[in-house]
Amino acid sequence: MRKLRWVAAGMFSLALLASDPGSDGKRWWSHIVYLADDKLEGRNTGSEGYRKAAVYVAGELERAGLKPAGTSGYFQPVKFQSREIVEEKSSLALARQGTAEPLTLGEDAAISMRVDPAESIEAPLVFAGYGLTVPEMKYDDLAGLDLRGKIAAYMSGGPASIPGPLSSHYQSSDERGKFLERAGVVGTCTIMNPVAMDIPWARAALARFQPSMSLDYPDLEEGFGQKLSVVINPEHLDKWLAGSGHTSDEILALAKERKPLPHFPLMSGLKARVAVKRTEVESPNLAAILPGSDPKLKDEYVVLSAHLDHVGVGRPINGDSIYNGAMDDASGVATLLDIVERLHAGKTKLRRSVLFVVVTGEEKGLLGSRYFAAHPTVKPDAMVADLNVDMFLPLFPLRILTVYGLAESDLGREVRAVAEPMGIQIQADQEPQRNIFIRSDQYSFIRQGVPSLMFKVGFEKGTPEEATAKKWLQERYHAPSDDIHQPVDLKAAADFDTVVMALAEAVANQTARPRWNDNSFFRRFAEHAD
Ligand SMILES: [Zn+2]
Repeated sequence: MRKLRWVAAGMFSLALLASDPGSDGKRWWSHIVYLADDKLEGRNTGSEGYRKAAVYVAGELERAGLKPAGTSGYFQPVKFQSREIVEEKSSLALARQGTAEPLTLGEDAAISMRVDPAESIEAPLVFAGYGLTVPEMKYDDLAGLDLRGKIAAYMSGGPASIPGPLSSHYQSSDERGKFLERAGVVGTCTIMNPVAMDIPWARAALARFQPSMSLDYPDLEEGFGQKLSVVINPEHLDKWLAGSGHTSDEILALAKERKPLPHFPLMSGLKARVAVKRTEVESPNLAAILPGSDPKLKDEYVVLSAHLDHVGVGRPINGDSIYNGAMDDASGVATLLDIVERLHAGKTKLRRSVLFVVVTGEEKGLLGSRYFAAHPTVKPDAMVADLNVDMFLPLFPLRILTVYGLAESDLGREVRAVAEPMGIQIQADQEPQRNIFIRSDQYSFIRQGVPSLMFKVGFEKGTPEEATAKKWLQERYHAPSDDIHQPVDLKAAADFDTVVMALAEAVANQTARPRWNDNSFFRRFAEHAD
């Protein structure tokens, strides 16, 4: 029965497409043309460009007749503390036996503003493997190390022996932060793992000039006692390892194979002076409701989410300093707006309500969604699922849909039931080491117990499509060239919107609400919420 209805829902959507202006992807693209225009200056959280983008989105939601679901119309203002490094007044040095070897900021390492740093700090360094604690696997990189009052240096990523979701979860700053704090660690140095680096060091390092933010609410603060956060260029790792008996070749080779890493004290301590410009920032999430028709189920919500913010104006690359964020994530917001318009035009009646949530502060660490999920504008337990769309990269035809969280809840079964009759193959995350399931806004909902999925246009390994996707990440991801002058496959985007909409319809119409699978790691958050 259920399956039949899903197929019917899918066919209905396809039939609708024949006469629907959304079916060629042009409407989807038109939203991107507005949101990723240079005039919006990269939509940084709290900026005037972001404000304009938010006004545009609110206008589209209103035009489609959606009910405002913010705290002020469609808007839910969120407060942030913003931090920018003043690098000319900052320094890092490796200190050994009374001498200090200065490090070049941006070359050897970068000081991250993710934690609010102390003005100055000097502490011994300990190499702590992957810096990871996974109680379920009895895995603990911190065990047996004397870390009290020390700075932990560790490789990003985790050993292959730990399943993807567990590894991702415990690498999140919340989880890692708790264990580091318990061990008495006062600062961290993360070595970028070359196998998992989406962008080359030179470009990653430029991001250090962009402001970092945290939520300005005592209940959502999470510094975990850290006074310094540094990112190490793996190519310069030998400077740090000098005299320890270990080399960067050895460590990087092990990390590449995702093998266990050694643990040992480094011969140098780290000395840091950090100057910071701090400001207060306000920037809104947006929320809107398409009311359901079932007298009971209408009080429950299928959430569709995407982030509106990008990283703003930064250091120029090839003479361009505006980081437009066309795919990241104007594309996801455009998908939501396309779906809004299609549902509106089709006068679609769904049993459950659909809650469209367009968030701010994603690039600062999923902050807008974290705020929304913790302070939702509907009853917290009324959100039955989150379908998140972030940078789904329609660079080639949609034949395969990669689904993040596929094995975690019965949403996985549903996405298959919706997509497969459309001739779209479903596949799980092919690159678990990139931690994508915890790297976008669905994770904020997951942490509140809400079953969630995220999607990308998929490819098979070893195909030209894989090469295209990899090249995109290397060249355009978080670069000014992620703009409206790049080739995209409009048909793939339109097909993608069709699948996500059909899935939202299926979840909204079925009687039972989605559940985490019994063996899902993420189910614990739902139990917590009960
Ligand atoms: Zn991004």
